[in-house]
Amino acid sequence: MFRRWITLCCLVLTLLSAAAAQLTRPERTNDEETSRYEDVIAFLDSLPPNPSVLKFGWLGYSPAGRRLPMAVYGDVPDIRPETVRRSGKLVVYVQGNIHAGEVEGKEAMLELLRELARGGHAEWRRRLIVIIVPIFNADGNENISLFNRPYQYGPVAGMGQRANGQGLDLNRDHTKLESPEVRAFVSLLDRYDPHIVVDLHTTNGSFHGYHITYSHALHPALDGPLDAFQRTSFFPAVHKRMTARKWRVHRYGDYLERTPAGKPGYFYWAHEPRYNSNYVGLRNRIAVLSEAYSYVTFRTRIDATKALVEAVLDEANANSRAIRAAVAAADERAVQLPTTDSLAVRGEIVESSPAESLLLAPVREVCNPYSGQTMYLMKEESLRTVVTAEFYGTRALRSAAVPEGYLIPDSLRAVADLVRDHGIRIDTVQQRRTVTAGRFLITADRLSEREFQKHRMRTVEGRYETVTLDVPAGTLFVPLDQPLSRLAMQLLEPESEDGVVAWNVMDRYRGNGSVYSIVTIIPKR
Ligand SMILES: [Zn+2]
Repeated sequence: MFRRWITLCCLVLTLLSAAAAQLTRPERTNDEETSRYEDVIAFLDSLPPNPSVLKFGWLGYSPAGRRLPMAVYGDVPDIRPETVRRSGKLVVYVQGNIHAGEVEGKEAMLELLRELARGGHAEWRRRLIVIIVPIFNADGNENISLFNRPYQYGPVAGMGQRANGQGLDLNRDHTKLESPEVRAFVSLLDRYDPHIVVDLHTTNGSFHGYHITYSHALHPALDGPLDAFQRTSFFPAVHKRMTARKWRVHRYGDYLERTPAGKPGYFYWAHEPRYNSNYVGLRNRIAVLSEAYSYVTFRTRIDATKALVEAVLDEANANSRAIRAAVAAADERAVQLPTTDSLAVRGEIVESSPAESLLLAPVREVCNPYSGQTMYLMKEESLRTVVTAEFYGTRALRSAAVPEGYLIPDSLRAVADLVRDHGIRIDTVQQRRTVTAGRFLITADRLSEREFQKHRMRTVEGRYETVTLDVPAGTLFVPLDQPLSRLAMQLLEPESEDGVVAWNVMDRYRGNGSVYSIVTIIPKR
C-alpha cells in the first residue's frame, strides 16, 4: 500500500514538473523574469513530441559555443535544406532575441511553438514551412542585469544585453559577417532560401502610441517591383490583420520635432545593408522588422509580437502564390541587372508622405521595485493623433554604373571568402585574356574619427577610367548575372557605404593607394 502511494506521488510530481516545464519562465514568474538559455532548451525538450510536423535542429553556435536551437514546422519528412526547398512551399524564417535585452520575441516564439506542438495553426501546413530560432543572441541573453535597458517596462527582474559575446551588435553585421550568429543566419539563407524573414525587436528610445511597429526593407538599390509589392500589398495586408485583432500598429519610427529634413515627422533612420531587414531585401526576399513598444507591459509586448508573427504567417499562407511569384520575378530581374545603367551604393531616407495620421502618447514614470530605477509606461488614457510627414522613402546619394562583373585578383583572399560566404557565385578566369575594364581611381580617402563596431569605417571617392587590361588565369570573376547581383555590388563597389572598403577588408591589400585593385568588366551596350 505504502509503495503504491509513493509511486502515485512520484507520478503526480512528474506530471506537475512536465506541466511546469511547458510554461515559459515569464508565465511561471508573473512576467517578472525572462527565459535563460537553459530555460529555452528545457522548454523545447518538454514540448509534446509531434515529430511529423515539428522538428528540431541547430542553426549554429554562439561565440561561447552555445548551440542555437532551431525549430522547423511543416509537412516535410526531414529538415534537410534540400527537403525544405523541394517541398515547393513558402518558407518563412522567424528569429527572436537578436538584441538580447529585447526579449519578448524569444518568449512569444516559445509560446507559439507550444501551440504548434499541440496541433494549433494546422492550416499553415498547407502552404508554409516555418523555421523558428527563438534565441539568436544566446550569449547576450545570459548577461542579465536589472540595469540593462533601464527605461524599458520590464521584465523587472532584468534582461540580457544588446551585444553578442564578442561585443558586436548582430544587427550591424550583415555585410561584414564577423559574428558566428550572423554567419549561421546567412548560411541558412543560402541553404534554405526562405521567402520571408522576420526579425523580432523592441523599440529603443522612440516614442509613439502603438503596441507594436514594423518595417520592411529600405534601400534605394532594392528591386523596384518587389519593393512596391511589400509596400503596397504585403505589409498593408499584415497591418489590416493586426488592426482586425485590435492591436494598435504602425510602421516603425520615431516622432521627431526636427527630422534631418528640418521639419517635424515620423522618421526611421536605417537604410544600410548591414541591418538584417535591408540585407534580406537586397537578396530579393521579403523582410519583416518587428519592433514591440518598450513602454507597454512585458506581457503586452509578448502578446503583440506573437500576434504580428501570426498575422505575417496568416498572410503568407493566404497569399503564398503571389509572394512566391514576386520573389521569383525579383530574382529573374537581378540576373538581368547588367542591362541596367546604374545602381545606388550610398543612400538616405527621405520623406514618403507629407501627411499621415500618427498616434502619440505620453509616458508615466514607474519605479522598478527591484532596481529602484525609473521605467516608462505608456499613458493609454492620453492618446492623441497628429498629422505629420512620414519618412520611409529612400534616395541614392551615390550610384555606380552596373558592370558585367568584378575581377578580383586571387591574392585578395579575404574579399573572395567574404563574397562566397554570402552565397554569391565566383568563377575563375581559365585562360589569360585581354579585357576592356573599369578601373577606379581614388581621389579622396578618409577613416571615420569614431570607432563603430570595432572598426574605423573607410569612405573613398573617385572615378572610373576605362583601361585595357591583361587578366591572368586564376583571376576571380564575380558575374552580375546572378540572383545576388544587388548584394554583390554593395559589397564590391569602392564607394559603397557597407562594402569591403567601408569595413576595412581591403585595408590589408593597399598597394598603390590611388587605384582600387578590384576592376569591373564593362558591359557591351
Ligand atoms: Zn533591436
